[in-house]
Amino acid sequence: MAHDPNCLFCKISQGLIPSQKLYEDGEIYAFKDINPAAPIHFLIIPKKHIPMLESAELADAPLLGRMMELAPRLAKEQGCRPGKDGGFRVVVNNGADGGQEVYHLHLHVMGGPRPWKK
Ligand code: AMP
Ligand code: ZN
Repeated sequence: MAHDPNCLFCKISQGLIPSQKLYEDGEIYAFKDINPAAPIHFLIIPKKHIPMLESAELADAPLLGRMMELAPRLAKEQGCRPGKDGGFRVVVNNGADGGQEVYHLHLHVMGGPRPWKK
């Protein structure tokens, strides 16, 4: 697995820095956001160090697809209400103009009753 030894999220996915883990398999790790912007806010990351969405390659497409497929399942598990009246938001920040602060690709999954902080 290609990790960056200086990357916060690589360290989290390897268990070197503690996190509130929600899910893990061979390729993917999910954990609660430390500074939640919504009542439910967690992050889904690849274990492989992909710095940004724009660094992802065609070969990463199945991995990205699996992360997207996991989002609604974990959202439901975390208490997001299903269907049109419930739901959740999935966000990827890419680069400084996109608001990215941690340079290891992550899906933000946010949900829960409104109003939210952001
Ligand atoms: P972004 O701005 O898209 O790069 O988002 C980075 C996210 O990582 C922010 O929502 C932070 O609250 C979150 N974050 C930073 N450090 C940690 C950590 N140690 N554990 C959990 N979430 C973190
Ligand atoms: Zn990383």
